[in-house]
Amino acid sequence: MKAQKRLAAVFALAAVSLAGCGQSGDPSSSSSSSSAPYTVNANASLSGSPTFDKIKKDGKVVVGVKQDQPNLGYKDPATEQYSGFDIEIAKWIAADLGIAADKIEFKTIPSANRENAIKNGDIDYYVGTYSITDKRKKSVDFAGPYFVTGQSLLVRKDDSSINSDKDLKGKTVCSATGSTPIQNIRDNYPGVSTKEFDTYSQCVDALKSKQVDAVTTDQAILLGYAAAEPDALKVVGDTFTTEKYGIGLKKGDTVLRKEINKMLTEGGSVWTKLYDGTLGKSGNKVTQPAVDNY
Ligand code: GLU
Repeated sequence: MKAQKRLAAVFALAAVSLAGCGQSGDPSSSSSSSSAPYTVNANASLSGSPTFDKIKKDGKVVVGVKQDQPNLGYKDPATEQYSGFDIEIAKWIAADLGIAADKIEFKTIPSANRENAIKNGDIDYYVGTYSITDKRKKSVDFAGPYFVTGQSLLVRKDDSSINSDKDLKGKTVCSATGSTPIQNIRDNYPGVSTKEFDTYSQCVDALKSKQVDAVTTDQAILLGYAAAEPDALKVVGDTFTTEKYGIGLKKGDTVLRKEINKMLTEGGSVWTKLYDGTLGKSGNKVTQPAVDNY
């Protein structure tokens, strides 16, 4: 994919400058492991959580993530290492459950396949810009939220015709299959055409080749694409929904949900360090949201 390659080039540059600070070549040097602001819980035990029992038995954890969302969930094609805020949250949870970062298997799962991957047990939990919604709660459970953002728009830098969601009539907007933003456009924006792909980087390619007029999804995701190609792309307008990111869990594993919520609630300073080292590098200051102990 073209966008993925270009992002790779941008991030390879960032990696070179980081390498100058030491630890070059260490695959886990992308902010965690040696420098993680928490320790692996050697005495982890969680009675009554089927997911924890499985993790303990396997001695590893399988986490569903995204791989083309810079600063959130991004897989470097050269090193095959994952990085970003979602990845750091996933590692923090694993450490809380007694699993070190080198025993985490990351699995890329696109938006449309998340509920099934959790239900089928293909993954132990999911951390990837996954909005908590009542519809999804019918088939999975959510710990968190651990982050709040909102739907926004990415357009070509030289396009002055779209400045907010009020300007979308007659335009073609791209988003990911199975996502909340595509549903919102379909339900609430009559006269707007939609195009969908499995991933947002495919939408970004379609935007640059003028097959679509805008990409819509969470502002936190779009800012990553705009930052990677500031001469070609820009984010416009205010956010027009509220998206609360949760950790997707097997339905009914209340013990695990409560444990992760406790970790998030008690770990405010860890959260801040993980945020500052990833998404927060853009200079955007936000505070950790309160968890929802439903
Ligand atoms: N947060 C939205 C959702 O969960 C959009 C981002 C995504 O597709 O992961 O649908």
